[in-house]
Amino acid sequence: MHLKSRGMVVSVLHAEELWQDRAACRGPHTSLFFPPSHFERKDDKEARESQAKAICAACPVRKPCLAYALRIREPHGIWGGLNEVERRALSPH
Ligand code: SF4
Repeated sequence: MHLKSRGMVVSVLHAEELWQDRAACRGPHTSLFFPPSHFERKDDKEARESQAKAICAACPVRKPCLAYALRIREPHGIWGGLNEVERRALSPH
């Protein structure tokens, strides 16, 4: 890998960090985005996810967040406004 391509890799990684800095879910809302460690009833899950998705709807980095979750095949939580089942439906396999 020559110097120029190494720079491009660094830039891509840096861009990835930058969108996370602008995430609307940073801070006290984080627990809405992932299931609790104890059993969660279906209606509780739907209510929690609905609140998380409302935050995603106004998030300035929704697109890169969803792209990242799809790329790494994130198996848990709300990313880019979609839960794990909804993301799986978008994946090619
Ligand atoms: S789209 Fe949702 S999960 Fe992604 S950074 Fe924004 S608020 Fe967080």
